[in-house]
Amino acid sequence: MVLLKTPKQPQACMVDNHVISITNIRNGESICYSLAFIKGHIHTKNQNVCHFNENLEGKLVLHHLNPNDSLMSISDWVILGTEFKCLINLHRGDNDLILEYCATKLKWSIEYCPRRTVFRVMPIYIICKGHNGEFQAPNGEENTIQSACRRIAVGCKLIQCLTAEKLAESGLGRKTFQLENDLNTQAAECTVFHSQLSVERARRLSPEELWEHFGRELMMSPLGSNNRKFVAFLSCTRYIPNGKKPGTYEEILSSMEGHVALGGGGLAIFGTGCLHTWPRGVEEVVPRFLNVTQVDTQYLMDDSCFRGTYGGCFSTTLGSVCHELGHTFDLGHTEGSIMGRGFDNLNLVFTVHTKNDNEKLDKEKNKRVSSPASKASAQHATVSFTKVLNVSYRAPSPIRKPINKFNRTPDSPKRKLSFTDLSIRSSQESIASDTVDESQTTSELSGDLTYWTKSCATILAFHRWFNSEAPQNKSINLTFDNATKTLSSSAGVCVVELRDSSGLVVTTWQPQRCSSFQLPPGSIGHQVTTLVAEDSVGNLVKQTLST
Ligand SMILES: [Zn+2]
Ligand SMILES: [Zn+2]
Repeated sequence: MVLLKTPKQPQACMVDNHVISITNIRNGESICYSLAFIKGHIHTKNQNVCHFNENLEGKLVLHHLNPNDSLMSISDWVILGTEFKCLINLHRGDNDLILEYCATKLKWSIEYCPRRTVFRVMPIYIICKGHNGEFQAPNGEENTIQSACRRIAVGCKLIQCLTAEKLAESGLGRKTFQLENDLNTQAAECTVFHSQLSVERARRLSPEELWEHFGRELMMSPLGSNNRKFVAFLSCTRYIPNGKKPGTYEEILSSMEGHVALGGGGLAIFGTGCLHTWPRGVEEVVPRFLNVTQVDTQYLMDDSCFRGTYGGCFSTTLGSVCHELGHTFDLGHTEGSIMGRGFDNLNLVFTVHTKNDNEKLDKEKNKRVSSPASKASAQHATVSFTKVLNVSYRAPSPIRKPINKFNRTPDSPKRKLSFTDLSIRSSQESIASDTVDESQTTSELSGDLTYWTKSCATILAFHRWFNSEAPQNKSINLTFDNATKTLSSSAGVCVVELRDSSGLVVTTWQPQRCSSFQLPPGSIGHQVTTLVAEDSVGNLVKQTLST
């Protein structure tokens, strides 16, 4: 007699054997944006063995219920170690969620309620005259106008969500900008804009000229409004390689037409050379970040910060949108961080996978990421268009490897830098680097290498575009007296930055809402050209300084 062995089916625990804990968002919390990010851990009680997970990669199942408790969507999310991360598109009002693992369920509720404001960011897909609107993509990848709009809509929601998440991590509240569709449900999630500029002409313009032209054209159009900032993508971007494999980022850029990544004032504008690597829906976000397909540089732009993969391109180009949008919210440059070159690792924010997952396995390629040659070429320059407007362009820099150099637990008390500390220490000109170090420590601990410095986070947290309108604040002014070098606002000064001619933040103070703040003597070094300050109701001062 032959005994046939049937494979054992994994079984769920008979009892409630696990604890699901959400670490970033409270039960019942209200958020002003529609794409919710949920992360946390799953532990098994009393070191019991879970048979459910014996033969399977652990998956968390997320159920989204509508108000009358019927199931709207169901999605599953990878658990790595004990960690999970999920994304879910919320509908307006209360959203009931059930997180399920094995025989354990956790009910959670999140409300989506946009703020009361007129200030919004409008995602735009620009189609030049004579162009069919199809973006460059490999064979088999959808590249229609509709597909572009879906990808841009998801990308903008990810940036909106990431901004809120990173501000919450800085302890400044879960704040972010509103998208057009948050405030106007009739509006498309991404609006198609037919430009009067011919495709031939657009492809001959420099990035700065593209920014300037479309900034003007959009503002003159019926969409133009001082209450609106545009995040725009140009359909006619084209990569035309000259036959040989590009060795440097400059060589890649020299093969581009209609390529741009610039932000400032009311417009952040981007080429679409890597839009084909972006997700068309929330369910595609994680797989797209983890996509290790190699970019064939014979045909397609590689904007992956030397990772050479589709996932790397998605991560870097989405990060650049975050960075350039930051400039439209009056942020300058900082060392590291999203406003430095710390925007290549957005994949780490949204996936539980380690960073190497979206780098290709080619050892040579990986070496280049941290080689001295690529370090030497690291730069991030800014050009000034107008007195008040900084516009930047990007150049490659190495990706930083996550390192556990800070031997500190998240619970250990942080050194608090008070107003007086900063004033006294300002003469040593060491504040800026101190501030950056504080933020870096946090980012190393959260492990995703993506953060705003304290100074950037403070500007955003008190920015008009990040807060509800309060009519009583209209009479409050923030002023700067150049003779006494004193800032005054009855609402309290929240952040002061001294920047150099490249827009780099040289020194910064966060004066805890003092009604007046005098720059400490000697704090305006020879490299300082501009003062930027903000008060607690979002008034901004940008002042050219003479030493
Ligand atoms: Zn179990
Ligand atoms: Zn920049």
